Amino acid sequence: MKHNSDRAEAHPISDLQSRVDEWIKSVGVRYFDPMTNMALLTEEVGEVARVMARTYGEQSKKKKDMQDLGEELGDVLFVVLCMANQTGTDLQAAFDKKFEKRTKRDADRHKQNRKLR
Ligand SMILES: [Mg+2]
Repeated sequence: MKHNSDRAEAHPISDLQSRVDEWIKSVGVRYFDPMTNMALLTEEVGEVARVMARTYGEQSKKKKDMQDLGEELGDVLFVVLCMANQTGTDLQAAFDKKFEKRTKRDADRHKQNRKLR
């Protein structure tokens, strides 16, 4: 378990963005254009939905539906990282900013939600 001070100095999302950028430039030649990646993101989210519907939902499972949820979420993450890189988005900064906002905004909100008990 990391201490809070370690967490504040760690930039795991920036590290992932750099890793994907290096991979794209060496293995992938170049990024797909942003609209292609938008379509790919939608496709990957659909694959997550398929696994969810068959694993946790009421849809029956076929043998060829044995995709792994982690693999599909990983595909979503990969495309998100590509989109951030090609649009000059600092996803680490964006996440940190939103996480802080969410923490302040929802300080008591979820604790007071009786549905969560
Ligand atoms: Mg996939």
